[in-house]
Amino acid sequence: MKSYDSKDLGVKVGLEIHQQLGTQHKLFCKCQTLQTAESSPSNLFNRRLRPSRSEIGEIDPAARFEFSKNRTIKYHGRLDSVCLVEADEEPPRSLNEEALEIGLLVALSLGSHIVDEIHIMRKIVIDGSNTGGFQRTVLIARGGELKIGRRSIKIQDISIEEDAARLLNESDDLREFELDRLGTPLIEVSTAPMSCTPEEVKDVALAIGRLLRSTKRVARGIGTIRQDVNISVAGGPVVEVKGVQQIELIEKILNYEVSRQLALKKLVNELAQRGITELKLGPIINLTNCFHSTNSALIKKLLGNSKEIKGIGVSRFKGLFNFESESGFRLGRELAEMARFHGLGGIFHSDELPQYGISEQEVQTIRRTLHTEELDAFFLAAGDPKVLVFALNALQERLRLAVLGAPAETRATTPDGTTKYMRPKPGAARMYPETDLPPIEIQQTLLSKLKRSVPQPWEKQLADYSSRYGLSQTQAEKIFDSEDVSLFEEIVRLTAIAPSIVAATITETMKDLSRRGLNMERLSSAIIRELFLSLDNGLFAKEAISEILAAIGNGKATNIEEAISLLQLHQLETDELQQILEDIFSKNIGIVQNKREGAFSILMGMIMAKSRGRADGALISTLLKNKLTEFLATSDQAT
Ligand SMILES: [Zn+2]
Repeated sequence: MKSYDSKDLGVKVGLEIHQQLGTQHKLFCKCQTLQTAESSPSNLFNRRLRPSRSEIGEIDPAARFEFSKNRTIKYHGRLDSVCLVEADEEPPRSLNEEALEIGLLVALSLGSHIVDEIHIMRKIVIDGSNTGGFQRTVLIARGGELKIGRRSIKIQDISIEEDAARLLNESDDLREFELDRLGTPLIEVSTAPMSCTPEEVKDVALAIGRLLRSTKRVARGIGTIRQDVNISVAGGPVVEVKGVQQIELIEKILNYEVSRQLALKKLVNELAQRGITELKLGPIINLTNCFHSTNSALIKKLLGNSKEIKGIGVSRFKGLFNFESESGFRLGRELAEMARFHGLGGIFHSDELPQYGISEQEVQTIRRTLHTEELDAFFLAAGDPKVLVFALNALQERLRLAVLGAPAETRATTPDGTTKYMRPKPGAARMYPETDLPPIEIQQTLLSKLKRSVPQPWEKQLADYSSRYGLSQTQAEKIFDSEDVSLFEEIVRLTAIAPSIVAATITETMKDLSRRGLNMERLSSAIIRELFLSLDNGLFAKEAISEILAAIGNGKATNIEEAISLLQLHQLETDELQQILEDIFSKNIGIVQNKREGAFSILMGMIMAKSRGRADGALISTLLKNKLTEFLATSDQAT
């Protein structure tokens, strides 16, 4: 995918990095922050959420939207990670001081202006991921900057927040959550809008992640850091893309979202050329009768089970559902996606009809029923009457916004790096004070104490790392970014194995095994530790590391000892190895006579293949070199 030019197009990107903190307990109660690997079977309670009014009496659009779905929410949990605070049955305990300290340390490292007094606020969240219908959030600092090479990135805010419950399952009328994650402290670092290339944005995300990790007081592992990306093009509205878990996807998502917003902007220009500044949409009209004698198998199928077909006319919109930008993006597709989101199978629009067995005559009947002219357009959808009106209303609203370009909305990321509609963007009415907890003054004594323990910049820590362990810059970065960094340090401390071998195994070998589709859950920290202790005790040669891990990963062995015996990897004694060497040497004496020293690599390969991980490469090399030198000296003397 070609990258956009951020300056030319006026692309602005803001990042919000959410990182779980490595505290002992949760933000507003004493429950542990440990997460269970799977869902707990115990269903603790069910809820049905309703939108609460904020202080100024407005209902948030995002909240109203979720409420309209009328879902039941089911909560699962275990008693060691959940108490009455998570259930919203008891008021919150006082703010976790450890979390506040970590937050303040980060704020100090970014040179942010720390607030004098913190106020605990409630932010409306009504998708069920918070049992009370709100998330508690605490602004601790404003401003600050992050230096990346010669660039300086402006920081907007730093907050401490409660993490939400984990979504387990979702259907039209039910959502199920696991409560273990709810209330885990998070730090949110948000940048001011940046005018950067996608690659630079990715680097900023990476740098903030490293800065957070450099405190050594944040949680590690999959899902402990998440990014939200706010994107706007040429002064257009800001689209919020939620939940980017892999940093590698940021560039792809930015490119996709910018091309989508540009395509919608192009449509605005086309509308302007037609002199349209406001779209005229007809009312929702029942079109079921237009299909009373239809031959379309698809329509017949859709009309089964007492479903209806309803449609809407759009004045002077002919050709615009299919209006296509260079990126292949069409409004018709966006509307279909939104229709599916609201519980319909999709839509039919006038730019694609007649098709699907719908005849020209039926199209004319629809046009008459909707009172549309030749230059007008229309769209229709089939569904259960109640769902249909709700969804068509949403589509009507969405279409009206076409004159403005990409609407301000919240979108979700897809695993392949695109975005899809998630919900309307939350309004300003979304925050109100937490009345159960008083404001907290930030003590100067605490700040002075913390200033002495501000971590060194991560670049400095990385440089130290590579000099202390003799790692290359790339290797040091990989291990610094790895969730297994403490495992690495432990193994290096416990064994005499070269740190570069440990680092390569933890990063590259593991990545390779994961790509090969092995069950990585079997390759636990305990297994990796055992692997290196066994290697350190000379139970196998380092060449066999990958093979041993693969045997455990594919379930053929359950521990290192089993894998070694299964693969017959017991280290060869030096005389056994010498025997293999002699064998191969005498069978290939012709090559030796012919190539002389040049035979080394060929023979080396043969011996390595034969000893297959049961002997150290360096030892083979020494033995072979000796043998070759000796042989050539003797045969030269003979001639
Ligand atoms: Zn609790």
